[in-house]
Amino acid sequence: MYSVGIITLGCSRNLLDSEIILGSLKRSGFKIVNVEDGADVCIVNTCAFVKDAREESMDVILDAIQLKRVGKVKHLVVCGCLSQLYKEKVAEGPLREVDLVLGTNDFPKISLFLKTLKKGDNRTAVSTRLNYLYDENSPRFLLTPRHYAYVKVSEGCSNFCSYCIISHLRGNFRSRSIESIIEEVNKLSKTGALKEINLIGQDTTSFGIDRYGKIVFPELLRKLCRLKNSVRWIRILYTHPAHYTDELIRAIRDEDKICKYLDLPIQHISDRILKRMDRHTTKIDIMALVEKLRKNIPNIVLRTSIIVGFPGESDRDFGELLEFLRQTRFDRLGAFLYSREKLTKASEFSGQIPEGVKKARYDELMKLQQQISSEINRSFLGREMDILIDEKVEGERDKFLGRTQGDAPEVDGGVYLTGNGLKIGEFCLAKIVDTLEYDLVGEAA
Ligand code: SF4
Repeated sequence: MYSVGIITLGCSRNLLDSEIILGSLKRSGFKIVNVEDGADVCIVNTCAFVKDAREESMDVILDAIQLKRVGKVKHLVVCGCLSQLYKEKVAEGPLREVDLVLGTNDFPKISLFLKTLKKGDNRTAVSTRLNYLYDENSPRFLLTPRHYAYVKVSEGCSNFCSYCIISHLRGNFRSRSIESIIEEVNKLSKTGALKEINLIGQDTTSFGIDRYGKIVFPELLRKLCRLKNSVRWIRILYTHPAHYTDELIRAIRDEDKICKYLDLPIQHISDRILKRMDRHTTKIDIMALVEKLRKNIPNIVLRTSIIVGFPGESDRDFGELLEFLRQTRFDRLGAFLYSREKLTKASEFSGQIPEGVKKARYDELMKLQQQISSEINRSFLGREMDILIDEKVEGERDKFLGRTQGDAPEVDGGVYLTGNGLKIGEFCLAKIVDTLEYDLVGEAA
């Protein structure tokens, strides 16, 4: 049977798809290896959310084609969002050495395709009906360290923000069942090594609206907290400011296992721009939500995402955004330059902003956030905090990197740790002895 290796690009949702791909291949008898060490089959699981991501995907595919030319790889498979967007074109022209193209609805059938794959094949299987939803029986080959895992509560999105192509890549919003998610968490935590689950989707706060006719995210959270297992942290990612309920806020406040951390992408604050983005929320609503979260959930850490340079964004809109961020002081912030995406409403809008202006606004905003982040980090000096230890710092003796409850894996900063008896995948209590712009320095007690 072939040996198979995978290269995953993009977000944690794509990483989870890669885990299902490897899980189903392993179950079918394929050997899972690292591509760098040579593999019969190299799979590139691509991202296509914005132009930069597509270019990165193309570069990685071209690198994999080089591996094929030097005989390090026999067959090349491309899957994920770029395949869904470009379909058979992913195996044409300079990419014609791609043997198999699979869409975001087709990757679960990968074993069947690989078993019949022959040299020189040039096959494409990209469904346009996007309804795939994994469940508790989907085999997963975890690609995260054993102590944390992602759990997708839903797939696709039906919010149709005017700048976003996700619904074209992943289909309309569809929730899993509560029972399926609970069963999956029971399976994932069987080893006792799992300490943290990160709940993901395109819009986790809408969980259940399609399947149960109403949002039941708080109910799911409370049921997950009741499970007797090794999990100490349940983290909520990818929320939508328009879909918070008081019941959700109460659940986050009341349940110790739920991280006092929220990923709350607002994208902008000017009502004019929020309207053009079809964000279905307003400045007043967002300010009220932030105030309510901070009032009801002590020490809540808020992460947000911002798009700068959206079509029609005036100096005044940008000034309003900067002033709001100066006042609100988000703990974590990721900013993105607006990317004009075909298939989206906003790509036809007037008032497209020159790249230079976008970049200047991005730099100004990130400079402000760097300042805010440094100041917020300094407030942790001297405090004792629970740290989940993720890894050893390469090339450093007895130095580890971990995270507080306020740091999501792979996107936020961390805590550089020293101390005795530190173990990867375990918690320790550490005193914060120094602070950096985005990271902390701690000494384990
Ligand atoms: S909420 Fe908006 S930005 Fe997020 S995936 Fe859905 S459509 Fe895209």
